Amino acid sequence: MLKTPTKTLAIDPVDVKAKSFQNLDAVLITHEHYDHLDPRLITEIQKETNCAVIADSTSIKRLQTVIPNGKLQEIKPGDEIKLGDVSIKGEKCNHAALAPVTYIITSEDGVKIFHSADSLPFPELVAIGLREKFDVVFCAVGIAAGSSPESGFEIAWLTKPQLAVPYHTALAASQSEFAQILKKELPRTACLIPKQNRIYQVSKKEVKKDED
Ligand SMILES: [Zn+2]
Repeated sequence: MLKTPTKTLAIDPVDVKAKSFQNLDAVLITHEHYDHLDPRLITEIQKETNCAVIADSTSIKRLQTVIPNGKLQEIKPGDEIKLGDVSIKGEKCNHAALAPVTYIITSEDGVKIFHSADSLPFPELVAIGLREKFDVVFCAVGIAAGSSPESGFEIAWLTKPQLAVPYHTALAASQSEFAQILKKELPRTACLIPKQNRIYQVSKKEVKKDED
């Protein structure tokens, strides 16, 4: 879950209770695999919160019979959807699904987050990283086909964020392995290994101006 100054977003919610969501503005779905898309849960969450549902073209097909028409929005790589002053952009995703997307989310106060979903690294990430200057990048380090601490690190290496978050694994060892590689190979990027049910606050790093 991501909370910006005015909006709350849930990305690929699974294995959670619909009732645990309050004041949710949007659910974002990256692709149709069962560990990312649970149409029944999304239906419950949507009823509970009246949130918008933004999803890739394949997931859309599985949601259009259960989510009210005006609440469902398709996103493809290159699309941008505005949620108030929050920007949600779809980007390419290098994963064996039908129409997967990754998400670039920019908060009202300019914090930029890249959620790489189940993506493996891909060359365009260099240009995307230079263009966006990410504050936070979520890097899959397991579960998804081909993903590992090394492939997760590669995503951080290509995008060069301020902060990299290893995720999508049941193994704490994979997260610490990611942290070790990052510390050695990309020391200017900090690492956050998130704990369940903990809230982390990220703000824009102040750029010091050279007075001379
Ligand atoms: Zn997947």
